[in-house]
Order: sequence, then C-alpha cells, then structure tokens
Amino acid sequence: MSDICLRCGRALKSKESAKRGYGSYCYKKIKAEEKERDEVQKFNEVMEEIKVR
Ligand SMILES: [Zn+2]
Repeated sequence: MSDICLRCGRALKSKESAKRGYGSYCYKKIKAEEKERDEVQKFNEVMEEIKVR
C-alpha cells in the first residue's frame, strides 16, 4: 500500500492504484516491461539450448 506511485512519485487517487502502489499508467508500463523481460528470458533460454546441442 502506498499513496504515491512507486514508479513516478505522483499521488494515487484511486484505492485500486494505492493497493498496487502504482498509478494505472505506470502499472500498465510495468506489466509491459515484465512481459518484454519474459520474452527476452525465453529467447535466451532457447539460444542456450541451441548452444548446448
Ligand atoms: Zn506513476
């Protein structure tokens, strides 16, 4: 719980945002970044497997 966004420091107005600790915009951004990281991770794993073979 936070009343300011942990990403940009702006005040959070909605209860939902406060629960997450991020404003809806930053939350979306974070989710997108996470997805990107997962994809990079998967790609690296595949590359690693190819190297081993
Ligand atoms: Zn924010």
